[in-house]
Amino acid sequence: MTQNSFDVAVIGAGAAGLNAALILGQARRSVIVFDNGSPRNAAADHMNGFLSRDGMNPAELLTIGRGEVRKFGGEFHDGTVVSVTRDSEDLSADFSVELADGSKIQVRKVLVATGLTDRLPVELEVFGERWGRDVLHCPYCHGYGVRDQPLGVIAKSAEFAMHQALMVRQWSDDVVLFLHRITELGSEDREKLAARGISIVEGEVAGPVVEDDRLVGVRLADSTVVARSAVFVGGALTMDPNDAILRAFGASRAETMMGDFVTVDMMGATSVPGVFAAGNVVDPGAQVIMAAAAGAKAGAGINMMLTNDDLEVALALRS
Ligand SMILES: Cc1cc2nc3c(=O)[nH]c(=O)nc-3n(C[C@H](O)[C@H](O)[C@H](O)COP(=O)(O)OP(=O)(O)OC[C@H]3O[C@@H](n4cnc5c(N)ncnc54)[C@H](O)[C@@H]3O)c2cc1C
Repeated sequence: MTQNSFDVAVIGAGAAGLNAALILGQARRSVIVFDNGSPRNAAADHMNGFLSRDGMNPAELLTIGRGEVRKFGGEFHDGTVVSVTRDSEDLSADFSVELADGSKIQVRKVLVATGLTDRLPVELEVFGERWGRDVLHCPYCHGYGVRDQPLGVIAKSAEFAMHQALMVRQWSDDVVLFLHRITELGSEDREKLAARGISIVEGEVAGPVVEDDRLVGVRLADSTVVARSAVFVGGALTMDPNDAILRAFGASRAETMMGDFVTVDMMGATSVPGVFAAGNVVDPGAQVIMAAAAGAKAGAGINMMLTNDDLEVALALRS
């Protein structure tokens, strides 16, 4: 780091954080970006659904993004931010950003773009070894790549099972819903699945069957193997936002279908003055292009707040 104070700290160098840093750098703000090297899609070889970047390796996007941010003066520090505190009780005071190595940086505003952590239920963790390859969470990210193949769906509730099975059916006419631990699937839901030609497999799932580094089936607890070449587990996941920094400030939250998330306004501002958030940390459904767009908006929101602060100071100096 060339200095120990910046206009803005961006925590997280995924699509959201990098796009915010780009906007802020182009707005001639000094920006430091912290990152500890665990983007959510690290397991994927390809990134789909991003206009003009479709199919690109996700790591390549981040490398290019870092280069663009640097062109406008943005700095990077690879490390974990452990806390952010306001320097006084005055809500316009600056912040101290503390790193795992104990060093501290002063900043005027903060953007939290730390993403989320996908967690499989304990009994399905054995599927984690195939994560992002043929154990998949999102049909928009992976569906086209496994089109017309024998697909499976595993979920944690009837609601999630119905949602994902009916959606995955768009990509293949051979879809099996593994009931696993779902006990509440009613006759109406079964009728809907039958109408779309989706089979139901009763019984608990035990694990993946892998041959030559490819998923070839799902083994049930009774040792039956159901041949499948990919399985969607999005409806079984818990998506935990990496939002300890926001929680520590007491930022307002809301319960959603996908969990408890900090709320932001349309420019990415949280309920805590000077603290913004963007991307999966506040929006679990955001794909890369949406996370980048939210970061761009938050960058503009932060610049607007800094512009107003600068005006206040200038007016005070004249009086
Ligand atoms: C397997 C898989 C495949 C996917 N494929 C696609 C796809 O094809 N197309 C698509 O559009 N989307 C895809 N996604 C979704 C995509 O991962 C997200 O949309 C995207 O990563 C969100 O960007 P983000 O910037 O919010 O978070 P992230 O990309 O997760 O970036 C957050 C960054 O913050 C850092 N960080 C976290 N906490 C700290 C801390 N305390 N201090 C410092 N740094 C910290 C992390 O290391 C990470 O680099 C996929 C997701 C998965 C799981």
